[in-house]
Amino acid sequence: MQTEYIKVSADDLERDFSILLRAGEIIRNGGLVVFPTETVYGLGGNALDASAAEKIYAAKGRPADNPLIVHINEPQEAEPFAMTTPLYHRIAEAFMPGPITVILSAKENLSRNVTAGLNTVAVRCPSHPVARALIRIAGVPIAAPSANLSGSPSPTDALHVKDDMDGRVHMIIDGGACSCGVESTIVKPEADGTLLLLRPGFITKEMLEETLGVSVTVAPSVLGQLKEGERVLSPGMKYRHYAPKAPLILLDGSAKERQYFLAEQKGRVAYLCYEEEKKALAPLSVALYVIGREGDKEKQAQSLFRVLRDVDKEGYDTIFAPLPDTEGVGMALYNRMIRAAAHHIQHLS
Ligand code: AMP
Ligand code: MG
Repeated sequence: MQTEYIKVSADDLERDFSILLRAGEIIRNGGLVVFPTETVYGLGGNALDASAAEKIYAAKGRPADNPLIVHINEPQEAEPFAMTTPLYHRIAEAFMPGPITVILSAKENLSRNVTAGLNTVAVRCPSHPVARALIRIAGVPIAAPSANLSGSPSPTDALHVKDDMDGRVHMIIDGGACSCGVESTIVKPEADGTLLLLRPGFITKEMLEETLGVSVTVAPSVLGQLKEGERVLSPGMKYRHYAPKAPLILLDGSAKERQYFLAEQKGRVAYLCYEEEKKALAPLSVALYVIGREGDKEKQAQSLFRVLRDVDKEGYDTIFAPLPDTEGVGMALYNRMIRAAAHHIQHLS
């Protein structure tokens, strides 16, 4: 398949309207279009076309038991294929369009190819102007997982998409770098009126609780099930996700402890460092990749997948990174990083 690669400016959609018309037509006709969202790039197909969902799984090499998120423009556009609830509408009022996905009961007409056989469906209204224009022009809801090959880091730049998806999709729309850089927060409303947080993102547990006044339970898988006192957890390959090719190990300790630890490392080593650490670590024979200032978790989240891809190209023996805390957007960082590291944590103190 020949992949058409086209730049579209979110600031001047009028100028690029004919491209979006063509992209919308590809989607309506059962084809695949990669498009930018505020979280990561999405690999989109018509959510009402069961065969388009199959094509998405094939293009990603995604296991058939991992469901897709359905993208719409307005919260009420979920109505034809999902059972909306008062809590869904409150979440929508507060956070949509934006980086949040809500799990709802799926209506029978929705293809179980989209939901991977589940009777629930994930619904999201992206805020990115290009994504919104594409959904409107396509005239159908768009099923879209992240546009990476299954297992590799999610793409936050169209060039990452090109690396993974060239020849596998009809069109890649390049709308520049994604502003969040990690995938949407996923919540599931529970029967008792609380929310279950299935995947942390830019909309944090704290924001959900404060704004909605509901209690939010973090699903155990989000933070991993590290046993008390366990030093380094042996990974199962099935837990490796968002992963660079070289082993990634997360360092649990102070800046000083990390500095001493890194000074002892041999071989070709890379370290994902905070801006503040750069100067002290510069004399070491460790390649430094800055992910942002220590307190700026939004910036770190935005950089993480890009840095993982950059590091991957250099063929290091080992990659180290500081273990983030789990407050605010830190929970999203922690969640992605323990998966990229296949749960390898080195406790330094
Ligand atoms: P991606 O679009 O690559 O970020 O992947 C979509 C994410 O949404 C995956 O983690 C899925 O497991 C999750 N997801 C999609 N639909 C459902 C659902 N019905 N129930 C729970 N999780 C879902
Ligand atoms: Mg993904």
